[in-house]
Amino acid sequence: MYLELFLALALISLISLLGILTINISEKTLKKWIEALVAFAIGALIGDVFIHLLPEISQNGITPEISFSILGGIIIFFILEKVIQWKHCHHLDHKDTCHRFTYMSLFGDMMHNFIDGVILAGAFMAGPLIGFSTTIAVALHEIPQELGDYAVLIKGGFTKKRALIYNFFSSLTSFVGALLTLIFGTMIEGLTPLLMAFAAGSFLYIAGTDLFPELHKEFDLKQAIIQLIFILLGIGVMSLLLLIE
Ligand SMILES: [Zn+2]
Ligand SMILES: [Zn+2]
Repeated sequence: MYLELFLALALISLISLLGILTINISEKTLKKWIEALVAFAIGALIGDVFIHLLPEISQNGITPEISFSILGGIIIFFILEKVIQWKHCHHLDHKDTCHRFTYMSLFGDMMHNFIDGVILAGAFMAGPLIGFSTTIAVALHEIPQELGDYAVLIKGGFTKKRALIYNFFSSLTSFVGALLTLIFGTMIEGLTPLLMAFAAGSFLYIAGTDLFPELHKEFDLKQAIIQLIFILLGIGVMSLLLLIE
């Protein structure tokens, strides 16, 4: 389990370096790929929640602790999102200028990755299959997430190299989150279903508020069909994992 978890965390951390690829790709091509990817990530996230996490969460029935953990996942990610988008506005000369607090974004990013580490460790504690399905769900949503982090740093005035390095180091907090979870997991009994409930809440939040709206920005029938196919593909991948069980 430790090796699998380590590999999953290493994979997620490497995704933070994907910004480097965007340098040589035209914006139009990138947009198309990201849209398909976002749709695929949505399918994987909601698929993981309802196909893999839910059975684990409901093992001993839906207790109030489970309900509050799901709600906690939603609320914590709402707060993190706010931190990442933190802006500071001046009202000068009738035109508003806003500065993002770049370091605040970086802090929010670190917390996000820390929590992803907690979720992954919890998933591997629940079992190899949940660990695997959740790694896929986290990895897929991290691709648009990390490209966004990188873009925020560039907009904040970082050079490309510096943005990549900072984004990579901020992703390493996932190892800290995973380590702490492993330590506390052995001390607190029944922590795993609560962590999976928390993961379910956060995945539903991310899919519903970050990813789905990305697909509604403009309407194009061909794109809409592609989006639908990729959402179903994401759910399909999660369903296929059931066969391994
Ligand atoms: Zn994440
Ligand atoms: Zn990041």
